Amino acid sequence: MTLKEIKEEMGGRLVADESVKNYIVRAIVKLPEEIAEKIISECWFFSSDKDSFGYAFNGNDLKDQHLIFLADVLFKESEHQIMYTILHEIGHIALNHKNSIQYTQSKSEIKKQEDEADEFAKKYL
Ligand SMILES: [Zn+2]
Repeated sequence: MTLKEIKEEMGGRLVADESVKNYIVRAIVKLPEEIAEKIISECWFFSSDKDSFGYAFNGNDLKDQHLIFLADVLFKESEHQIMYTILHEIGHIALNHKNSIQYTQSKSEIKKQEDEADEFAKKYL
């Protein structure tokens, strides 16, 4: 898929300004097709810009969907750090890591998941 096709396909699931959207789709395009397809269809990305307009969606939108929030301060970092962080967060989704307010993880579980997400990011960077 091209960057433009990914951006169109994701449409309203990319809630960020144009430059942030471009980083996200450039990270997705590095992934193998089956992982990319899962992320494109199941993932929402939000930049946490305090100046952005509010964004509302109802619970039904979220069934089998995943949310990734990317802080504005990230985009002041190097391109390498930005891509690494986006791929790391995608890794948590692609690897089906548990992260829920209803589920408390042990420290060793968290460490294992963080290591796996780091591996994922390094693999596709
Ligand atoms: Zn992580």
